[in-house]
Amino acid sequence: MTRTAPLTEPTAPPARPTTGGRRLTGLQPTGRLHLGNLLGAIRPIIAGQYRAETIVFLADLHALTVAHQPNEVRTRTLEQATTLLAAGLDPDRTTFYVQSQVSEHTELHYLLECTAGYGEAHRMIQFKEKSAAQEHVRLSLLSYPVLMAADILLHQADEVPVGADQSQHLELTRTVAQRFNARYGPTFVVPRAVYPTVSARVMDLADPTRKMGKTNGTALGTIFLLDPPEVIRRKVTRAVTDPGRSVEYDPRGRPGVANLLEILAAAVGAAPTTLAADYRSYAQLKHAVVEALDGLLRPIRLRHAELARDPGYVRRVLAEGAERARENAAETVYRAKRAIGLLD
Ligand code: AMP
Repeated sequence: MTRTAPLTEPTAPPARPTTGGRRLTGLQPTGRLHLGNLLGAIRPIIAGQYRAETIVFLADLHALTVAHQPNEVRTRTLEQATTLLAAGLDPDRTTFYVQSQVSEHTELHYLLECTAGYGEAHRMIQFKEKSAAQEHVRLSLLSYPVLMAADILLHQADEVPVGADQSQHLELTRTVAQRFNARYGPTFVVPRAVYPTVSARVMDLADPTRKMGKTNGTALGTIFLLDPPEVIRRKVTRAVTDPGRSVEYDPRGRPGVANLLEILAAAVGAAPTTLAADYRSYAQLKHAVVEALDGLLRPIRLRHAELARDPGYVRRVLAEGAERARENAAETVYRAKRAIGLLD
């Protein structure tokens, strides 16, 4: 449904309830979701959905900015949606949808391409890093942060949780929003970045100097959310520890043990230093981590299996989410088109 009828005068960003801001997160459906995603991104979303208006979308358009397999994007998108629902995302509270199903993202993207500068996009560190590693650089990789700006501004989001790697893109979003508002009249809410706590950084089990994850992590050191219990046990048992035998929380001197304690702390809801005192050997600590991860991940795995038996249900949830997302999105695009001179 694309609205063409006038909605409101494009004089100011829409008013909204003052209780808590509107928070938006996009997750790229590439690779399998892992423990770092759960603790650093998914759990905060799930906790936040009870406190603030929450919008979550699967950024499948962003997944096309580098070489991709069409079937992989399709499959991962459905798998991630299923996993997020299994982990507790509540589609009645959270607007949850797939980016490409709401065409206003690309429509606003173009309007913002006419607002952002080539030099600004070209300066992005992530563009420099990713393009340096490729022979054929897609133009969409350059304009990726402008699409990200469209994702955020489309929903008039107040808060965007970002990792350090995305903070430059968020800054560009703010610049573009301010420029558009100054040139064409107040149209967009200028969002602010929200940074996760440092303790939400999960390190690779096989190499605790790297972040667990799809780009930097190792296969053996990454706990995927849908890993079977025996695989999790093997990965934790083989986790790199540090010289010494006593269990102490010392992130600098003993990063391997500190990482295990932090994972345990996140899983059971206690402080790593307090937990350290409970274990006399690394073997005991690892055993506790295996048990805690089982308690954390088993319910997600079981619920995922249940939901995966009915992909029609997950697709319906996403379609309804897209319908809801379009309500904000259509209004924003209408206002932006009017402001920029495309509509009377
Ligand atoms: P990525 O899967 O790398 O696109 O990351 C998506 C989001 O998951 C990030 O923005 C972080 O919030 C979170 N995340 C990814 N890896 C980790 C990690 N190792 N520790 C904590 N949070 C992470």
